[in-house]
Amino acid sequence: MVLDDLGSSLRGSLDKLRGKSRLDEEDVEEIVKEIQRSLLQADVSVDLVMDLSEDIRERALNEEPPGGTSARDHVLRIVYEELVGLVGESTDLPLESQTIMLAGLQGSGKTTSAAKMAWWFSKKGLRPGVIQTDTFRPGAYDQAKQMCERAEVEFYGDPDNDDPVDIARKGKEELSDVDVLIVDTAGRHALEDTLIGELEEIERVVDPDRNLLVLDAAIGQGAKDQADEFESAVGIDGVVITKLDGTAKGGGALAAVDRTDSSIAFLGTGEEVQDIERFEPSGFISRLLGMGDLKQLTERVERAMEETGQTEEDWDPEEMMKGEFTLHDMRKQMEAMNNMGPLSQVMDMIPGLGGGLKDQLPDDAMDVTQERLRDFEVIMDSMTDDELANPRSVSKSRIERVARGSGKSEEQVRELLEQHKMMSRMMKQFSGMGDGDMQRMMKK
Ligand code: GDP
Repeated sequence: MVLDDLGSSLRGSLDKLRGKSRLDEEDVEEIVKEIQRSLLQADVSVDLVMDLSEDIRERALNEEPPGGTSARDHVLRIVYEELVGLVGESTDLPLESQTIMLAGLQGSGKTTSAAKMAWWFSKKGLRPGVIQTDTFRPGAYDQAKQMCERAEVEFYGDPDNDDPVDIARKGKEELSDVDVLIVDTAGRHALEDTLIGELEEIERVVDPDRNLLVLDAAIGQGAKDQADEFESAVGIDGVVITKLDGTAKGGGALAAVDRTDSSIAFLGTGEEVQDIERFEPSGFISRLLGMGDLKQLTERVERAMEETGQTEEDWDPEEMMKGEFTLHDMRKQMEAMNNMGPLSQVMDMIPGLGGGLKDQLPDDAMDVTQERLRDFEVIMDSMTDDELANPRSVSKSRIERVARGSGKSEEQVRELLEQHKMMSRMMKQFSGMGDGDMQRMMKK
């Protein structure tokens, strides 16, 4: 869901609460207003927004904050919990054999999502297969086949057969040895009786364990009607929200979740098979609130450490924030970051970094490419331990020496020192975030 500015606008109101131990009605109202504005802009229905506002008001003013909790932490926790409540838990998808049927209007992203989900399950070690029963949309067969090839998952479809129910039946036989069978169905531009009838028949034939409704994030209030129709025809267990990478808002889909008493299963964030995320309410809301998705960050760090063979002690965020940031530390950071993916994404996940600091940095400031990393490593190899521990001691004459020794230019050595200064500043900013937010979250 696109609530881009919720984090930054809320932070302003929350900051005003610093030092306060009790909330008054005015404080709560200001926060509720920010949340309302943001949710309504993201197309969340008025009913849902009003219910949520009422719950936040009620809890913030009546619940007793646990001893020692500041007013700010108290309200932040309530807002967080209520937002998690609004988006719900993610759809239960055990990693075991199952059949999943996708439903939705034409263009919602079913075919793309079928291949993406198959790719996702394959990465979890299961063997998925996709059946394409969409005989209505020209090109659906080729598109599905190509995407499944890219995802390296099994596929069944038949461009010469125009009976979707028959295709479903044969596909189920053909792919009887896969673990996860994903059945893509036809959509229409609007809900029609023939579409619903066909879906019901396919459902009878494939007997899915779960039906997921695929919704374009731009759907807005139309989601309600679609959800009601599909719910009464086949029953909906979860929702896939697609195209969240665009300018779409996504909040409309929450109405579908509410109407079908279901939950969000996956988010689609691009056109490639890998552009899929399993929906995780806590991470999702942390990101919305600009608190950073620490869970995801931790996972990435762990993965990066696995790949570089580093141990936990090498990447202790608290340690990193405490003392002097040396060139040794920088080297570890760069190795880890290099393995973590695009730095801008990593930074989005770090609390307090979402907006501010990132914008102040020059575009290439944190460009941790392999090549650059290698150059830096060669340069560092020509430095003494003392210089690595105290980069500020590297004077002009030492720069000349290091450049000569490493076969790199003096400019490259200076660049390395600049980079260190910049990263060091960033680390200080972490530790200066105050009121223990970061440390606390890192521990979770
Ligand atoms: P279907 O008719 O429901 O099967 O929809 P498709 O899977 O063919 O998707 C319709 C269009 O939306 C295609 O051009 C897809 O590439 C595009 N699409 C699907 N999911 C996403 C997404 O998450 N992000 C973006 N940017 N495009 C998507």
